[in-house]
Amino acid sequence: CGIIGYIGSGNASEILLDGLKRLEYRGYDSCGIGIITSNDILVKKNIGKVKEVSEYENFEEFPSNIGLGHSRWATHGGITKENSHPHTDCNNEICIVHNGIISNYKELKNKLVSKGHVFKSETDTEVIPHLIEEEIKELKNKNKNNNENNNNKYSKEDYINCIKKAFKKIEGTYAVVIINKNFPNTLIGIRNESPMVVGLGKDDSEYFIGSDVSAFLKYTNKALPLEDGDLIIIDKNDNKINNEKSNSYKFEVFNLKNNC
Ligand code: GLU
Repeated sequence: CGIIGYIGSGNASEILLDGLKRLEYRGYDSCGIGIITSNDILVKKNIGKVKEVSEYENFEEFPSNIGLGHSRWATHGGITKENSHPHTDCNNEICIVHNGIISNYKELKNKLVSKGHVFKSETDTEVIPHLIEEEIKELKNKNKNNNENNNNKYSKEDYINCIKKAFKKIEGTYAVVIINKNFPNTLIGIRNESPMVVGLGKDDSEYFIGSDVSAFLKYTNKALPLEDGDLIIIDKNDNKINNEKSNSYKFEVFNLKNNC
C-alpha cells in the first residue's frame, strides 16, 4: 500500500529500500523493488516485512540509478510472491508498481490472454504492463507494414503514446510508477484517485515519486503533489540539457484528460 520511484545518481536500491521502510506505517503484506541494471529489468520481491524480504532477496545486490518499489496490501489475488509487485510484461521490458484497484481487469485480462499474453500472477495490476506491451506490439506491426521502421525499436514519444493509449482502457483507481529497460533515463508516474507526490532531489537532477512525502523526506522536502489524470515523465538527460527555467521544476506534467 505504498509506492516509491527513484531516478538520479544515487544508489536506487538503497533509496527504494529506505522509502519502503518509511512507508511501512501504511500497512502491507509483501514488498518488492524493480531496477534497471546492465540494460535489463531486475525484480526482487516476496511476502513479509520489508527488512526480512530485503535481506532474504538481497535487494542491494546490484547498483542502479533508476528503480521503483512497492509495499502491497492485497486486494486481488492472495498474498504470494508471484502476486507481489513489481509486475512486468512478457518480455521483461516494462516494469511497474501499482496502488489501487483496476476494476475492469477481468475483461482486459481475457482479451490479452486471447492475444497470447501469459500472466504470472492473479492480480488486477498485471494487466498494466501487458496492455502497454500490446500497444507497443501493435505500433511495431504498424511501422513494419508501413516499412517505416524495421529494427524493432521505438522512440520515447511512441512509448509515452502507448502508455496513454493503455491507460485509456483502464478503469479504476491507481498510482502507478513505470520503468522500461529501453529508456533507462526515464521514470514515469501516473495517477487517478490514489495519492502520488513527486520529490525534487539534489542539484535538480534527482527525482523521487512516492505515495506520500515520507517515502523520500530523508532526501528532500521539495515536493509536487500530482492531480488525477496527471502523467509525469521525468527524464534525467533532458533535465540536464534543458536547464533553463521554470516554476522550480524541470519536468513535464501532462494532463491525460486534456491531452489525449
Ligand atoms: N490491487 C493491487 C493488488 O492487489 C494493488 C494493491 C495495493 O494497493 O497495494 O496487487
